[in-house]
Formats: sequence, structure tokens, C-alpha cells
Amino acid sequence: MIDLRSDTVTKPTSGMLEFISNAQVGDDVYGEDPTVNELQRRVAELFGMDRALFFPTGTMANQAAVKLHTQPGEQLICHEYSHVYNYEGGGVSFNSGVSCKLIGGDRGMITASEVEQAINPPDFYHSPLTSLVCVENTTNKGGGACYELDELQRIRDLCDRQGLRYHLDGARIMNALVAKNEDPTRYGRIFDTISVCFSKGLGAPLGTVLAGKQEVMEKAMRIRKVLGGGMRQIGYMAAAGLYALDHHIERLAEDHQRALEIALVLKGQSYVKEVEPTETNIVIFYLDDHIDETKFMKDLEQKNVKIGSMGQGKLRMVTHLDYSQDMHETLLELLGDYGA
Ligand SMILES: *Cc1c(COP(=O)(O)O)cnc(C)c1O
Repeated sequence: MIDLRSDTVTKPTSGMLEFISNAQVGDDVYGEDPTVNELQRRVAELFGMDRALFFPTGTMANQAAVKLHTQPGEQLICHEYSHVYNYEGGGVSFNSGVSCKLIGGDRGMITASEVEQAINPPDFYHSPLTSLVCVENTTNKGGGACYELDELQRIRDLCDRQGLRYHLDGARIMNALVAKNEDPTRYGRIFDTISVCFSKGLGAPLGTVLAGKQEVMEKAMRIRKVLGGGMRQIGYMAAAGLYALDHHIERLAEDHQRALEIALVLKGQSYVKEVEPTETNIVIFYLDDHIDETKFMKDLEQKNVKIGSMGQGKLRMVTHLDYSQDMHETLLELLGDYGA
């Protein structure tokens, strides 16, 4: 099966499994798991942040960040495609009692001037108080698009002027760092908190680390506990994260190259209406009007290829660690032959 629904479908490699089985562990609720401590230290250091905390999922890390930065009744600003708004079960209202002010914009990205217009004037007490801006890099529903650092910095400057906090949903930040050849410490200087997923392109079974400034992260342990995220000998999973940091980052460039090649082949097909720009490992495309989406996906599945649908005609393929060169060549051929 060639499974391109998501980069979360990967299974640990034998090297990762071996590293996991050799991990030193302890009870992390007592802060005594050396492997968890090591992963947290490594991620904090990578981004030049003060502290970091290991979470079971990216959703929980984002939810903790929103809770850290807001009070009930307040409002956060994010893109209408964003994961915190669309794919976390309404958690920002459930867990933090906040609402979202949504911005539309190019492939899941927002600009400083759009954010500026979305801020409610603090003295206008009829509106919710704006307290947080969340951005995604790379964007998920936006098709793996990468921000320009300058734009992220302009939003930071605006947050400073307006007294807002600033969170990066960096589920795929490693993809952005590799694609743009950027220095992660620049991100550490721009954001108050950054979440980094290990279960996406990095190929670990689970785990997200939230990195942040000291004064913010002090409360993060309590919030993680309240959300049910205190774990015991979780060093086995932190080991997967450490292994991924050492072995699975540079290879993301291969995923990006393959995604680009898929996009190029799709562009040449009469059954494809449009392919969005492909910057990292996500390819988003739309079928021509006379092609039935359900049938298309079924036809592919019959040839052992699974892809994802994001609604409104948006189809998605995501390349990853378990998508090999052999599979890639098979897929390109299949896409070229489809409908012929
Ligand atoms: C996957 C993802 C998350 C976290 O998802 P979990 O399944 O909870 O780990 C957060 N943000 C974005 C943009 C994602 O793609």
C-alpha cells in the first residue's frame, strides 16, 4: 500500500526501535526520566528557548499554549485554515474559554497588516479582548506553505506594540527549517512558545515538545497535568524523538523533492484542474470539474494508493519517511496513466 494520506502514518524504523529499547527511563511525573529531560533540553537548545516540555500530542501542546497565553472570554487571532481552529475539537473554547478571530489569506498564512486589522481595540469593552496570535509553519490545510521570517518578525513587532502573546504551531517546523535553510534560534527569538511534532515527518510514534520562555513555561507543567498529559516512563517515546532529531531531519529534503515531482506530474494531467504551489511535503490539488472525486479516490485505492480529501474539492498527498523511491516511481507512472 502506498499511503499518502498523511505523514503521520509512518512506523518506527528498526534503528529507531533499537534506540527506543535501549533508552534509560524513569517516572517523568517526578521529573526523573533522563531521556525525556534530554529531549526537552535538546529542543529548547535547538530553538534557543529557556525550557521545553514533552506532550503526548500536538493538539495537547497547542491547547496548553493557548491556555498559557489567554484568559476565558479573550480572543485569539489565527488563519481560518488553522489546526487550532479546525482540528482540535473546539478545544480552545472547551479548555480555555476563548474565541477565534479568523483571517483568510494565502495558503494558510497571515500577514502583520491582516493581524493588525483583526485586533479588537482594548478599550472597546463590547468586544472580546485580543490576547494571542497563532500561526502555523508549515501550514497544514494551506498545503505545506512556509512563511517568510520577515513577516513572522513583523507580526512579533506588532504583538510587542499591542501586548499580545505569539504562538507557533510548529507541527511541521522542521520541514520549514529544511526547505528554507533557516536558523531555528531565529524562531526562538520571535515566538513566546513553539510546538514541534515528532509524529509527523520525523517518524516517531508520538510526541510533541512545547518550547518557550521561562516565565511562560513555569505554568506549563500544571496545565499539562490538568489536561491529563502527565506521563510516566515516557522516555521510550522521547527516545524516538531524540533518534528522529539525529537521523530524520536532513532527509526531509527527499520528501520535499518527491512532493515537487508529484506536483509536476499532476500539473501535466488533463484530469487535474489546479495544483497549489508545493514548497515542502504536502501536495494539494483539485480535479477537473467532470471528474468525480469519490471515484478518483476509489480508483487509486484499487491500485493500492491512498490519498486524503480535505473537503471543498481539495485533495492532499503527503510524502514521508515510509514513502520510498520505488513507491514514488510507481505512483508517478500511475498518475501519468490515469484516465488515459
Ligand atoms: C498534526 C498537527 C498538529 C497536532 O496534531 P496531533 O495529531 O494532535 O499530534 C497540530 N498542528 C498542525 C498544523 C498539525 O498538522
